[in-house]
Amino acid sequence: MALLPILEFPDDRLRTVAKPVERIDADLQRLIDDMFETMYAAPGVGLAATQIDYHFQLIVIDVSEEKNERLVLINPRIVETEGSQTCQEGCLSVPTIFADVTRAERVVAEALDRNGELRRIDASGLLAVCIQHEMDH
Ligand code: ZN
Repeated sequence: MALLPILEFPDDRLRTVAKPVERIDADLQRLIDDMFETMYAAPGVGLAATQIDYHFQLIVIDVSEEKNERLVLINPRIVETEGSQTCQEGCLSVPTIFADVTRAERVVAEALDRNGELRRIDASGLLAVCIQHEMDH
């Protein structure tokens, strides 16, 4: 595994619009492992592929205390939202800056997992914030 460099604001590459992932293969799974390692080392709770200069719709998240609940979202879309919450958010691409952001309190997302299986994720609280934040990338 390897640590990947994280692009930082105002790098123009952070504005690149991510395309859908077309193939889930061993190379992509290796990249997913590297993204987790990079995110844990940062340290952070979420990382979008755009942030490591890979412009496809791929997100890794782990909001657990023990760092043992890996969540991979490939080509995610939000299918349901509910309520609102305001949370102080940071971003690995904008180090040291934290800002209050208002988002849905609960989201239901559909995404492929690392094996290409379609999964439905019902998230609230921090996980919901994190999914919405990473999808903004
Ligand atoms: Zn971010």
